[in-house]
Parts: sequence; structure tokens; C-alpha cells
Amino acid sequence: MIPALSTEELVNIANEFGTPLYVYNADRIAYQYQKLKNAFRDIDSRIFYACKSLTNIQVLKYMRSLGISIDCSSINEVKLAIHAGFKEQEILYTSNGIDFSEIIEAKELGVHINIDSLSNLEKFAKKYGHSYPVGIRVRPNILAGGNLKISTGHDKSKFGIPIEDISQVIHYISAYNLHINSLHIHTGSEIVEAAIFLEGIQVLFKLLPQFDEVTHIDLGGGFKVAYKAGDAETNVNELGQALKEAFDEYEMKSGRHLKIWFEPGKYLVSDAGYFICKVNVLKPTASTLFAGVNSGFNHLLRPMFYNAWHDVENISNPKGQLKSYSVVGNICETDTFAWDRNIAEISEGDLLAFHNAGAYGFEMSSNYNSRLKPAEVLVTNGKAQLIRRRETFEDLLRHQV
Ligand SMILES: *Cc1c(COP(=O)(O)O)cnc(C)c1O
Repeated sequence: MIPALSTEELVNIANEFGTPLYVYNADRIAYQYQKLKNAFRDIDSRIFYACKSLTNIQVLKYMRSLGISIDCSSINEVKLAIHAGFKEQEILYTSNGIDFSEIIEAKELGVHINIDSLSNLEKFAKKYGHSYPVGIRVRPNILAGGNLKISTGHDKSKFGIPIEDISQVIHYISAYNLHINSLHIHTGSEIVEAAIFLEGIQVLFKLLPQFDEVTHIDLGGGFKVAYKAGDAETNVNELGQALKEAFDEYEMKSGRHLKIWFEPGKYLVSDAGYFICKVNVLKPTASTLFAGVNSGFNHLLRPMFYNAWHDVENISNPKGQLKSYSVVGNICETDTFAWDRNIAEISEGDLLAFHNAGAYGFEMSSNYNSRLKPAEVLVTNGKAQLIRRRETFEDLLRHQV
């Protein structure tokens, strides 16, 4: 059975901790991880949790307890990972556009590093020569991902070293004895088709003869989850099989065995998360019936930022008659979570749960309109535990002088 929290459990948790509230179901995280492990059991793979999707320290500790490694997008995430107990060699730092000093810091901490610009790669080569292996992020000029905002491998993307500049990388290897042990691509988020990953791999396979010291290929994350009934998700079993075939064939031809690294974020935590808020106001208008909640895009940005879909459930009246509502936030800007959505009949004071809120939910929250950030709760073995307290008015003033 797919682990999920019942409407009753969610109501109880919301009553205990108040709203707006993020709730994460640890069992579901473990379930998603197991699905990936099964799918990749026949390939020599390693999974790094892309923690930018959800960095609460208790979630990181839970990930570690499952045996997952961790992928970080900033030096602070690297420090959080260390704080959560990850060992240096379980940590990967895949940055973009950062100052070289952060790369020095990451090197001194002893973590794996992917470098994504010629500029930083040259500095690294000059300073460290062969002494410290690094990966490079390659921009393969492939269009992938759910939409342009979350697409990162195409020929106008800021990410990675463009494939047409690889000769310069080769120059650093010969000029400075640079030690490159990994080729990385992350072409986008919400990639459904295994074929896109295979296309990326073929690009890397072509480069490999120039990279004698590469021991692993990093395929990034970007596995899609289902947001609503009937939605496609990445078929990870099919992907695992296709990767096995591609890497076996490569090994036969070249005699080189390569490990495969992955960096899933959304796939591990998206559907483990619920965002619960309360309906403050019902406002019938000629065009639509608005349900105004005690939250806004300051707490869950994805609908306004990416046009993302989150199923909305009235957990106070789950069996009520379906009616059409536009669920809107309380921010002084257009702030719509869902347009003309069929939801079980809502009364003021009812609790609504947004599904798939685990990834890029709390992480993208802000204090816009001087609203307070929500609390977070982690449910492990049926027990709900507060893992971040709700902000208070004093928190708004804390850093102001
Ligand atoms: C964001 C990101 C990921 C995770 O992407 P998901 O779509 O959440 O799986 C993995 N790797 C890198 C380098 C990223 O920037």
C-alpha cells in the first residue's frame, strides 16, 4: 500500500499544531526511496537527495537514517548536511554561479564538488592540479523538463559548461593536470521520458574518451511525480532497465565500468508533504466562488511561480458535495492557488490540504507582506513531531537594526 496520511490524521495534526502548517510523512519518503532503489538495483548506482527541495534538519537526518547521500546547492546546504550528520564523502556540492571562495571552502570540508563554469574550473585547476578530483557539469544542449522555467540543459540555459567549450576543459587537464572524475548533467525537472536521460548519456559517452579519469556519470534529478489523478510520472523501472542496457553496452565496447549517480529531490519528498491552511472567507461573485485562506504565495509559491498544480482537499468535510471554488491567498497581489476547482463543500473555518507540497514548498516560503512562516511537522511511525516552530512577530524584527 502507498503510505499516505488520512484526512482524519491531517485534521488532528492541524488541530494540535495550528495552521498554516506543513506536514511530512516519513513513511512516504522511505517508500519513494525504496521505489528508486528497486528500479536501479541492477545498475551500479548511488542516490544523492537534492536537499534544496526540503532542508529541514530533521528531514535530512531521516534521509541519512535511510542511507541516502546528499546533493547540495549552496555552501550553507553543505554545512546543514554536515550538521545533520552526513560524512564528507556522502555530500555532493553542485553549485552554479558561485564565488570561487565557496569552492575552496567545499574542498576544505572534503566534499564531492561539481564545477559548472570554465572560469571556476580554471581557478580550481591552477590551485589544486591533480590533488583533488572534481566533477564538471556539462550543458548538453538538450531541451528537457516540464516547462522552460524548470528546464536547465538547453542551449540558452545558464547551467553547466556548454558542450561546445569542452576543448577548453581538455586544455586544463593537460596544462594543469586537472583531475576530473565525474561528468554531470541535470537537464531539468519533471522529465517523464526515459529517452531524454538516454539522449544525455549518449552525449556524455561521446566525451568519455577524452576523460580517462572519470569513474562516474551523474545524471542529476528531475524525476516527475504525479500531481493529479491520471498524471504521468517518470517510469523509474523502465529508466533503470534502459540505463542498464546503455551502460552494459558501453562497458562492453570500451572496457570501462562507470558508476551512475542520481540527485532526485522532488521524487523523494513531493508527495510526502501536505500544506494545510484554514478558510477565512467565502466570497461569492458573479464569476466564481472564492475561498480565501490564511496563507498565500508567500507560503506556497509554486502555483503562482510555475503554474504548478496542487490537489486541494477539504479535510474538514471530505465527503461533502463537490462545488467549484477558486482558492486564493491573503497576499496583496493576485494570489491564486487554484482556479475553478471542484472541492467538497467548504464552510468558513474548514481546513484545506494541498497535496504534493513536500518539495519546494516551505523552502521557497518568504515573509512577504510581513506574514509569518508556517510551522513544519514530521510524522514518523504514526507520531507527529514539530520540526520547526511557527514564526512569531519578534522573528520579523530579529535581524533588523
Ligand atoms: C534542483 C536540482 C536537482 C533536483 O531536481 P528535482 O526536479 O527536484 O529532482 C538535482 N540536481 C541539481 C543539480 C539540481 O539543481
